[in-house]
Amino acid sequence: MVYLKAILALGGLGALFGVALALAAKKFAVEQDPRIEKIIEVLPGANCGGCGYPGCSGLAEAIAKGLAPTSSCPVGGAAVAAKISAIMGQEPVKEYVRKVARVMCGGDRANASLRFLYSGIQDCRAAELVSNGPKACVYGCLGFGSCVAACPFDAMKMGENGLPVVDEAKCTGCGRCVIACPRHIMVLLPEKSRVEVRCKSEARGADVRKACKVGCIGCGLCVKACPNSAIVLENNLARILPEKCDACGLCVEKCPTKCIVMRDGENSRAMECVVAS
Ligand code: SF4
Ligand code: SF4
Repeated sequence: MVYLKAILALGGLGALFGVALALAAKKFAVEQDPRIEKIIEVLPGANCGGCGYPGCSGLAEAIAKGLAPTSSCPVGGAAVAAKISAIMGQEPVKEYVRKVARVMCGGDRANASLRFLYSGIQDCRAAELVSNGPKACVYGCLGFGSCVAACPFDAMKMGENGLPVVDEAKCTGCGRCVIACPRHIMVLLPEKSRVEVRCKSEARGADVRKACKVGCIGCGLCVKACPNSAIVLENNLARILPEKCDACGLCVEKCPTKCIVMRDGENSRAMECVVAS
């Protein structure tokens, strides 16, 4: 009898709490925008963070709130942007510029000098912590492949010359390699871009020459050669102004260290000019 009373009392209490919880859940329920679920459904589900939000659901919420554009998913590209625009009742994105990762350093094993031999953890961030890394150029690629390890799409590998190589067909432009690189060597550029300054060194010319055969020495010959005033020197480093550049290639010809390059050996005025920014 005692047991029966206890069971009934506990059962009653359980039912009471259950009802109270159900009522509270109903009263304090947060209405969720139904578009969020729809956007999550069309996003690729990579959860790569390339959009700058914590996963696909974070981005979906931001888009639904109007805090992020419908074209924010670099992995989904134009097709996903169009679907999200439809969900949001917006005009489809007119011009979607596909971006890919590029390596802005030419200081490979043959070109860049070493200050010391490093045998610690094979990771660029770890190597950087040891006296700014083994390379004489403290701006150059460290070559331990932290960018490669960070790529969730198998779009990078380390080349035999000690510099990373991007497979642009696989690159989604998620930017994980950009975040992983302690030297800021990886940049995202429009895939059509062809002219690049492959150096990040802000050191003085004489110091660059001692450290690397293909570094920017800040001589300004490219600036003088450019008919469009499309190159400026900032902190001893050439920077191309994309809005002025018509990709004539004169800077590529004039650069004495060949740190300005035309991709794929192509040389067309129609090609887009971009800078290692
Ligand atoms: S190469 Fe970089 S940007 Fe491209 S998919 Fe890999 S991590 Fe993302
Ligand atoms: S690009 Fe950056 S992360 Fe990649 S190997 Fe070079 S230093 Fe390391």
